[in-house]
Amino acid sequence: MRSSSAKSLPGPEGSLRALRVARGIGGILALLGTLASGCIPGATADRVVLVTIDTLRADHLGCYGGTWIETPALDELAERGLRFETAISPTPLTLPSHASLMTALDPPRHGVRNNSTFHLDAGLPTLAERMRERGLATAAFVGAVVLDRQYGLDRGFDHYDDRMAPRRAAGEFGYAERTADRVVDSALAWLESGPDRFFLWVHLYDPHASYRPPERFLAQLPSHPYAGEIAFADAELGRLVESIRARWDEGRTLFVVTSDHGESLGEHGEMTHSLTLYDPTQRVPLILSGPGVPEGEVEERLARLTDVAPTILALAKAPPLPDPDGRDLRASPSGTPWEPPLAYLETLAPQLDLGWSPLLGIRSARFKYLRAPRPELYDLVEDPKETRNLVTERREVVEEMERSLSERLASARPVEPTLKPDAARRAQLARLGYLTGEAAVTAAELGEGGGTDPKDGLAQVMMLHTAVSLMAAGRPDEALAALETIDGGGYVFDLHRSEAARRAKRAELAERFARAALAQAPAVAGVHVALGEALEDQGRFEEAAQCFEEAVRLDPASSDPIVGLGRIAEARGEVAQAARLFERAADSRSGSAEALWRLAALRIEEGGRVGDLLSRLSAEEKDQPGAAIRLARAELKAGRRARALARLKRALQASPESAELLAAQEELRLGSP
Ligand SMILES: [Zn+2]
Repeated sequence: MRSSSAKSLPGPEGSLRALRVARGIGGILALLGTLASGCIPGATADRVVLVTIDTLRADHLGCYGGTWIETPALDELAERGLRFETAISPTPLTLPSHASLMTALDPPRHGVRNNSTFHLDAGLPTLAERMRERGLATAAFVGAVVLDRQYGLDRGFDHYDDRMAPRRAAGEFGYAERTADRVVDSALAWLESGPDRFFLWVHLYDPHASYRPPERFLAQLPSHPYAGEIAFADAELGRLVESIRARWDEGRTLFVVTSDHGESLGEHGEMTHSLTLYDPTQRVPLILSGPGVPEGEVEERLARLTDVAPTILALAKAPPLPDPDGRDLRASPSGTPWEPPLAYLETLAPQLDLGWSPLLGIRSARFKYLRAPRPELYDLVEDPKETRNLVTERREVVEEMERSLSERLASARPVEPTLKPDAARRAQLARLGYLTGEAAVTAAELGEGGGTDPKDGLAQVMMLHTAVSLMAAGRPDEALAALETIDGGGYVFDLHRSEAARRAKRAELAERFARAALAQAPAVAGVHVALGEALEDQGRFEEAAQCFEEAVRLDPASSDPIVGLGRIAEARGEVAQAARLFERAADSRSGSAEALWRLAALRIEEGGRVGDLLSRLSAEEKDQPGAAIRLARAELKAGRRARALARLKRALQASPESAELLAAQEELRLGSP
């Protein structure tokens, strides 16, 4: 099925040096690797294209033995280059994992331990900075707001494009994103105007949940939309690669494709990623193709995401990063093959989001050790599905890996969420009466074990998924009932309880849950938005506005709190101010469908034209009940009753059981707005 020639990349000194030091088995292997590699001596990459396809499970790609869908672009790059059979990501979290990719450091040393509340320290050199020092133009195009520039990964890029599409539906959970075709369009537009020598990073977010591939990719395998998203991302990768090959000399262009983490897809009791460290989320594809890279080879030895930057820098003859955790994957200058490394693993999301124990681990080619309230050890050679815990049988392996883990943690930078409100701001918030406690996790406790073992709590997360589906289906009372069966106290549970209560029209209960979330996660903008919305629903506009303003301060890229401020202005009859806020939200980096339809409604009421605004929304967005009802009311106010009815009718075709839409239609028929 696959070749297993186990070649390493040729070392910088070429075969002469390898000959000189070829001693013993290791030396001979290195020599063979160098001679058989087919490298182009002296060729250096003048163009480096790094593509990260988010949430990409290695085993779903054809070149990794996957049979679900076809991935011709990835397979072709693997065929023309070097594929790493076992590449390990340090963490199943998008921002920390990309921070490792860009700094060659594991999370304890770069300090970005979770999404949304951490910022990369400005003192840490990055891959992009080094590429710029090498004289390359640098540009990044990211597909989700989780990599917004406010988190610091933009450093070193001349151009950092993090402008998202509007969120698809109001109240939808998850990060604002844009689809792969739009990300690639933007990257190609930059290449059109850009210089000849460049470092380009393209991040395609599509395989991340929720899975909604374009129709033609969904049609290939309707039962597995995650695979459809991968096929779509692969097609867009192909379009990018072909455009670059058509324009520039292939001999000086290096392509590197990898991912930040995989997806559990139900294995080990997890649907998506972030709460486990098993191979479905930690083993990612890693493919290199270009000058200095062997053709059509497969490297069997363990590689890590932190090895990617040192390898790219070496291939591009750019200055290395200081004291990296990862290292150049080419053979060492002495010609000896590199030592099989140990890969560090962690996820602090269980602790920071759910109030459980974090997970920490070490993985070698053969064993994986997980430090947890109930520790785990797996032999990946004998038991690749990680089903037989050997922690009592193999004490010696556990002890060795425990030691290695403690050493790595000892070099961690002392950090706490860097986007946390400062002391003065916290005092101000306390005076306003809506900050009720300290953050649940202090810097000293970060990464400390204790509390619920994530593997024991995953059933609660499954219930959370059920509740979210019920909410999406317009059944908030049932969602709330499901959420109340969860005894987990982490802020994410309370945030969802607040949303369900709000949708069930129980604003005071929603406020209580939002305050419980806030006590645990005062640095999370979304928590302030939830409290603001619960207060807004009770007509407590002054307090709600303060919450939205705090959310804007914590997350300048988020449109949700700006839209909230716009709604309050509108409720107070300040129409011009509301319109300004909606415009600002619609033009923000995360975009906002709600801002667009609210702005359109205001314009309709003034008798203005709205084609330009509504053309920026999809049919799904315009027909969503909240949008359709607001637009219908505006049409009615402007004296266009027939148009109002037509809007509701169209929305009812999309959601025939929506109680809100049926009630609005009834009101309109009876003549009251
Ligand atoms: Zn991710």
